Amino acid sequence: MSGIVYIVGAGPGDPELITVKALRILKSADVVVYDRLISKEILEGLSAELIYVGKEIGDAPLQEKINQLLVEKAKGGKKVVRLKGGDPFVFGRGEEECIYVTSKGIKCEVIPGVTSAIAVPEYAGIPVTSRVVPNSSGFTVITGTTRDGGLISDDYIPKRGTVVILMGIHVIDELTKVLLKVRNAEEKVAIIEKGTTRDQRVILGELEQLPDLVKKYNIKSPAVIVVGEVVTLMELVGFKNENLRK
Ligand code: SAH
Repeated sequence: MSGIVYIVGAGPGDPELITVKALRILKSADVVVYDRLISKEILEGLSAELIYVGKEIGDAPLQEKINQLLVEKAKGGKKVVRLKGGDPFVFGRGEEECIYVTSKGIKCEVIPGVTSAIAVPEYAGIPVTSRVVPNSSGFTVITGTTRDGGLISDDYIPKRGTVVILMGIHVIDELTKVLLKVRNAEEKVAIIEKGTTRDQRVILGELEQLPDLVKKYNIKSPAVIVVGEVVTLMELVGFKNENLRK
């Protein structure tokens, strides 16, 4: 008898930002295969076998092993949860795992998660869209680097609207140059490191300062970069991160 693989989003960091459905499935799982950015509090108290497969950006060989592990465990009839940070289909490779598992004749289901692309700016007081400030009628989420380790191309960057960048810190110099091809040097930016967690840091500045800010404040992954006028709302609403769990 073959089991099932659930591709599950754990949310962006705050352990309470996981869905009710994800929690229910986790509680009855036999095996949980989890990533680097998963909060320990979510895993505490689970009766499942816990397997850590945390990887850094672009660690492709490990992906093949993860795919095989999911199939191997599910083939034994087990209920397997593949737990991923944020939402599994937003730069999460959840779809790759789904395709692989299904191709091996194993059932696969996806449980969406709260993505860091929206929730991390939000916890910092920055909405990704707004009617209160101009040029904020839409938002684009991009990755700093592409699958082959190359830089994102400037035709992914819209002329107007909010740009949210994931996985951008390690290529900040080159990425800023790409952004400056399309956007103004004085545009407001926010860098949010370890968003929605107790260690969250928010750094504000202008687009051309991005590389200097990352260096000055020694920003490390995970961090989200927001470019656009919505960043000014953070100061307007005087947000104090009161949502953060102490
Ligand atoms: N599937 C995830 C994104 C995976 S890519 C999601 O939907 O959130 C990993 C990137 O997400 C990181 O490099 C960083 O840019 C961003 N990220 C994830 N968690 C974060 C956090 N708590 N704070 C800031 N950025 C975060």
